[in-house]
Amino acid sequence: MTKIKLNRRSDRLRCRRSADQRVWVASVCHWAVALMFVMLSAASCRKPPAVPPQSLLLITADTLRADRLGAYGHHVIRTPNLDQLARRSQQFSTCYSQYPLTVPSHASLMTSRYPDDLDMWTNRDTLAADAETLAEFLNRRGFRTAAFTSGILSFPCGLEQGFEHVTLRRKGSERRPVTELLQAAGSAGSAAERRFASADDLVRQAISWLDGIAEGERYFIWLHLWEPHMAYDPAPPYNQVYNRRQPGTYRSGPRLLMGRADDQPPLTDEEIQEVIGLYDGEVSQMDGALGMFFRALAARGEPLPLICFTADHGECLRGPRDYFGHGRGLYEDEVAVPLLVFCQSDTAAGVLVSRAAELVDVAPTAVRGLGLDLGPWRGGRDLLAPQADDVDQTARMYLGSHYRAAVEGTTKVLLDASDGSCFVYDLLADAQELNPVAVRPEDAGDKTARLRQLLAFEQASPQQTPEVAADRLEALEALGYLN
Ligand SMILES: [Zn+2]
Repeated sequence: MTKIKLNRRSDRLRCRRSADQRVWVASVCHWAVALMFVMLSAASCRKPPAVPPQSLLLITADTLRADRLGAYGHHVIRTPNLDQLARRSQQFSTCYSQYPLTVPSHASLMTSRYPDDLDMWTNRDTLAADAETLAEFLNRRGFRTAAFTSGILSFPCGLEQGFEHVTLRRKGSERRPVTELLQAAGSAGSAAERRFASADDLVRQAISWLDGIAEGERYFIWLHLWEPHMAYDPAPPYNQVYNRRQPGTYRSGPRLLMGRADDQPPLTDEEIQEVIGLYDGEVSQMDGALGMFFRALAARGEPLPLICFTADHGECLRGPRDYFGHGRGLYEDEVAVPLLVFCQSDTAAGVLVSRAAELVDVAPTAVRGLGLDLGPWRGGRDLLAPQADDVDQTARMYLGSHYRAAVEGTTKVLLDASDGSCFVYDLLADAQELNPVAVRPEDAGDKTARLRQLLAFEQASPQQTPEVAADRLEALEALGYLN
């Protein structure tokens, strides 16, 4: 494992202010820093904390790109609470989502299994009942467990397995929520999207649930925050922090942003910048809610839990792909996510870690961080363990039955099984993945042979369309997923 202590303030690079430039510069900075760490190749000497944390807080920020956080190099978007957490955490320079859609991605995170193993390919899929989740693993070991979720994860999809307390939106539990969502889709100022629980709401519920936990009881809280997800609709004052025009004076509905509103003219450049400002406002709003939670945890006067903060996938904010959203590609915009692992007694806090990380690693890292034996748990790597030379340094990503990608260092291989094509990218030289260095497998060379071997797979059988409850289906449609 390669680590280096950072003085984040002095080491931050100056980035220009235009949105596109910011994103591009952040990507280049990101890979330049990552390569520097790889070249240093110093072994970790960190010892595990003498007293492991008693409890676990897992935070998944839905649709959060890593490069939107100050801790990851952004100089405009204000995320002071997450930046402070990063300063006290091990921060992974790059973590990959296994799948750029909410349900399959969270399923991989919670089970340490890849989507092809789980046979989960869309937001309509449900996690099999016999797939052991982190919540089940910890609950069986005496942990109290609670999930506070929003958006698509407001509906049962199997991820609720193992949680004693969940915040699922049951059918009929709220008057006309889906109708309001449908009305909101495609229109500006989609206030109805707030019918999904806000970060503030979920944090308050989590704090209230914590009040019922007896002293000495171990707990696992999963907090799933929907804010950065489309429709970008931050509440005041966050809806004007990064925007010049008044809210509601430009168009930002999901169908339009995802390029699926044929009946509307395309967004102007000014509208695109305003929409990105709304996304950024959502990020700051979420950060504010987390600050409330972190303060409440500190006020309890007990050792802080192990905190894992990450995202289920990123978001394409136009750029060269020319769309907003996720679930369409395995480019960095959609699959590079932040990962912070906070352990109060961690002597290695404040380091940027460059080792390969992916969401399937989160559960074993948390289990070992809690001082527990992994026992029968299979899959993923303990990211806090000293790294042996033979530890796999790759990350894998999936999209539907055709697309696979693998990354090692700054080399990324993308396979399209529909026609056998292979694309190889040098992420340091080509951060936006515009110019593959080899497009035929026979031209890719030995450097990528192992990655291609890792990605080799049989043509998947046609995916069955699963039965989905009407309320969940309508919410998916409202969010633009079904067209
Ligand atoms: Zn998601």
